[in-house]
Amino acid sequence: MKQLAAPLLPGATLGVLGGGQLGRMFVHAAQAMGYFTTVLDEDPTSPAGLVSHQHIQTGYQDPEGLAQLAEVSDAITTEFENVPAVSLAALAGQCFVAPAARAVAVAQDRAQEKSHFVGCGVPCAPYAVIETAEQLAGVDAGLLPGILKTARLGYDGKGQQRVQTAAELATAWQTLEQVPCVLEKMLPLALECSVIVARGADGTVVNLPVQRNLHRNGILAVTEVYEGNVPVALAAQAVAAAQSVAQGLDYVGVLCVEFFVLDDGSLVVNEIAPRPHNSGHYSQNACDVSQFELQVRTLAGLPLVQPRQHSAAVMLNLLGDLWFAHGDTAQTPPWDAVLALPGTHLHLYGKTVAKHGRKMGHLNITAPTADAARATALQAAALLGIAAF
Ligand code: ATP
Ligand code: MG
Repeated sequence: MKQLAAPLLPGATLGVLGGGQLGRMFVHAAQAMGYFTTVLDEDPTSPAGLVSHQHIQTGYQDPEGLAQLAEVSDAITTEFENVPAVSLAALAGQCFVAPAARAVAVAQDRAQEKSHFVGCGVPCAPYAVIETAEQLAGVDAGLLPGILKTARLGYDGKGQQRVQTAAELATAWQTLEQVPCVLEKMLPLALECSVIVARGADGTVVNLPVQRNLHRNGILAVTEVYEGNVPVALAAQAVAAAQSVAQGLDYVGVLCVEFFVLDDGSLVVNEIAPRPHNSGHYSQNACDVSQFELQVRTLAGLPLVQPRQHSAAVMLNLLGDLWFAHGDTAQTPPWDAVLALPGTHLHLYGKTVAKHGRKMGHLNITAPTADAARATALQAAALLGIAAF
């Protein structure tokens, strides 16, 4: 595996596997610091491809495309966790790649991910791996009611089935085409939160403040970050757990660790994302270093300094549903009215077609106090047709 002999200074070219919105915001951050960028994604209108200096339009496993990416890039990262780990491993022979294929492979597989948590001593939901009919038949009744999740390729609640009984579990596994799955016990959630850490090749770890997250229909809807969003002791526990998950993977890059806080106040890790995360988007406007700048710094081998949050923040996800608030014909939401509110920062991903459930952008709201941020966010939500929270 290639390592960096010295930091890559601005002027170098940073490559990204994947052309989605996370890649787009990475490209923006890299370019702001004077780097050149290359994106590999087969979609000619991919959000990141549209704004990158270079765009290689091939699939993630195309040998020629990958060779070209390695040729033009000084270092390569990924923005999409379902990029094949084998592609990252192949690139790593020619170019510095962060995060490493091995760490991405763990995050891509819920079964491996969970055994990593157990190995780090970080509690996760009780679970069973279901890959065979025998394992299905032998499931401990204590795991029901539960959620059956495909081990691979799930996102935004896709590839998940909630099950009450053993019979429902069997049907759900059929519905999921008997692919390898993990059955998780359904836990009583008091709240959900996440932590973003960035770890350098020298082992330095920094983190963003703990994010409190609200999901709707399995998709992140709102993130709130300000003092008191979660109890202080819990926040410290979450940061420490995120750091040990990153260290245990010998991780280099930006990592998001998602947690559940249960009704009894205990903290349970849910899953990890080996990249910046939707719940970290507030950092673009509320912190002096954003999660995307952290990604640039880890990839280029630049120093990591602890980010400082300077404003209370609320982030609202802007799903395609907002375009259909007034009927079946897509209509542009009232951005002008939203932007008339103080401390609103609009981020749209350049997707031309709005669809239900599609992430089109996000709105960051910053304010001097938590109450002010929440009040403005609720006003913006009302204007956009987002339910109050
Ligand atoms: P994403 O990649 O968008 O984060 P995902 O498809 O990987 O989502 P999960 O994070 O596993 O899905 O689950 C989505 C949501 O479902 C969680 O944020 C939580 O609200 C709920 N959920 C998942 N697992 C459990 C559980 N064991 N008990 C209770 N609720 C759960
Ligand atoms: Mg999740």
